[in-house]
Amino acid sequence: MAEDTLFAKIARGEIPSEPVYSDDEFYAFRDINPAAPTHVLVIPRKPIPKISDATEADAMLLGKLLLVANKIAAQEGLEEGGFRYVINCGEGAGQTVFHLHLHVLGGRPMLWPPG
Ligand code: 5GP
Repeated sequence: MAEDTLFAKIARGEIPSEPVYSDDEFYAFRDINPAAPTHVLVIPRKPIPKISDATEADAMLLGKLLLVANKIAAQEGLEEGGFRYVINCGEGAGQTVFHLHLHVLGGRPMLWPPG
């Protein structure tokens, strides 16, 4: 069940995490295994398994997801050095938790193309 994923439990406070941002619709917390000096995960409280499952009804939520990420990037002081947003979709892309999440990565140079 989408409501039973690790991130749904983190969003509900049933599993501890280090909070970075919280409002009625979103929760953001530090990644347990950071891939960069700053690595924050932003999740909608609504349990959408992956980005390709989002529908027209989620258009506002997806826009707000990016604006919340922008807030966090500014709050974390990432604007000057640059930062990257990543959404992995499906196992082939490296998605391991099936509750939509956006990675905010910064604090080091980012390579392109990504691995
Ligand atoms: P994905 O690979 O699905 O795009 O990203 C999942 C992310 O969740 C990974 O970067 C992983 O390190 C992080 N993660 C997995 N389990 C936990 C946890 O229990 N707590 C936190 N804070 N992050 C987690």
